[in-house]
Amino acid sequence: MELNKINYKKGVKVYKQKKPVNQWRFFTWLARFLSTFLTAGKLAEIKKIDMDKVEGPYLLLSNHQTFTDFAVNSVATYPKKFAAIATFEGHHGQPKPIRAWLMEKVGCIPKRKFTTDPNLINDCKTVLHEYKNIMIIYPEARYTDIGTTSFITDEYGSLIKKLGVPVVTIVHRGNYLRAPFWDWKHKRKVKTHSIMKYVLSKEDVLEKSPEEIVEIIRRELQHDEYEYQRENKIVIDEPFRAQGLNKALYQCPHCNTEFEMESEGTKLWCTHCGKIWEMDEYGVLTATEGETEFSHIPDWYNWEKENVRREVAEDRYSFEDEVDVYSLPHMRKFIHLGKAILKHSRENGVTVEGHYNGEDYKIRRPSRGLYSIHTEYNYCYIKHEPCIHVSTTNDTFACFTSKKDCVTKVYFAVDAIHKQINAEKAQARAEKLAERNKPTEE
Ligand SMILES: [Zn+2]
Repeated sequence: MELNKINYKKGVKVYKQKKPVNQWRFFTWLARFLSTFLTAGKLAEIKKIDMDKVEGPYLLLSNHQTFTDFAVNSVATYPKKFAAIATFEGHHGQPKPIRAWLMEKVGCIPKRKFTTDPNLINDCKTVLHEYKNIMIIYPEARYTDIGTTSFITDEYGSLIKKLGVPVVTIVHRGNYLRAPFWDWKHKRKVKTHSIMKYVLSKEDVLEKSPEEIVEIIRRELQHDEYEYQRENKIVIDEPFRAQGLNKALYQCPHCNTEFEMESEGTKLWCTHCGKIWEMDEYGVLTATEGETEFSHIPDWYNWEKENVRREVAEDRYSFEDEVDVYSLPHMRKFIHLGKAILKHSRENGVTVEGHYNGEDYKIRRPSRGLYSIHTEYNYCYIKHEPCIHVSTTNDTFACFTSKKDCVTKVYFAVDAIHKQINAEKAQARAEKLAERNKPTEE
């Protein structure tokens, strides 16, 4: 059995990356035209700061809340031509890949999430230096779980330095409040405000270190949708406003039990101890009895994240679940591989073991190099259920979990293990350096 290889039936070809397309002018216009409909009644304003000072093609870094971000970004960059890094799954279509053709012509460059892609820098250089178009990247590479900035890897510092072009950020506000990731199917009546800002000139990029650059990017892309809601007194009075929140807030802060939270209407409760919290019209939580542990929703989410970090640090973490797997080696349609076992631990990384077309298979992403993992609460393709995406350079595996509300914890654990490995590497480097600099006795 060859690792990371599926015995596909005849005719299934693995997608080979192509050179990015120089967006046709007609598609710049078409993207803008379609975005008018996609953002109708949603987009209130795009505020531009210092954008008149930007010279030449630039890198546009965007936060990511919902699909509407793509449309707002094509409004914000119009009439300039652009390319955007987009998820591989977003390109698939059946029976013929018409969507893939259209996405590529619009300027989307398909990438498999959280893999090391050796072509990424060259693709960006082609867009910026050869075509002289705007390059759009969503550095978090996922929709926000809870309305705050997700993890942005250190590698963006060196990527930006290698590209050597001005950097602009765009921060969308309100998209998450309108369609939170855990209940995106039901829309709330909230409008989007976006701020587009020129943050680094070409000279800044050349002068600053990768660490300084990534710090600036993280600061500029910082957002908190619930803080924004309270500050701007945005009323969300939909009677279903808390429904689905247990997908992200999976641990009870009263009795610490995991995966026994439920929600409906405006309420969130623990079926283990019975404690209830209610979400008001400004997104604030209050316990119906006793102490309110977390009134600010992201604080609850960060508390869970810290618990997982501790579990990893104390070597208590491991995860196993039976999953239903669909793969996407090409851009046609997902292939159902059936049931498999997904395991996660620091020692073995993420593994998916199953049987397909007469052969066993094992997919493995070791912890080293796995800096994040993609998770979904209600996947928009295949079936509207939670799943964990395990991607390799040549394939993507959507693994639908059977355990309740478990995907956020796996995402937290991948993040914690990555940080732990990085901290150990830094410590080893420091010790080596100290050893080398130790005065030798004559
Ligand atoms: Zn409880």
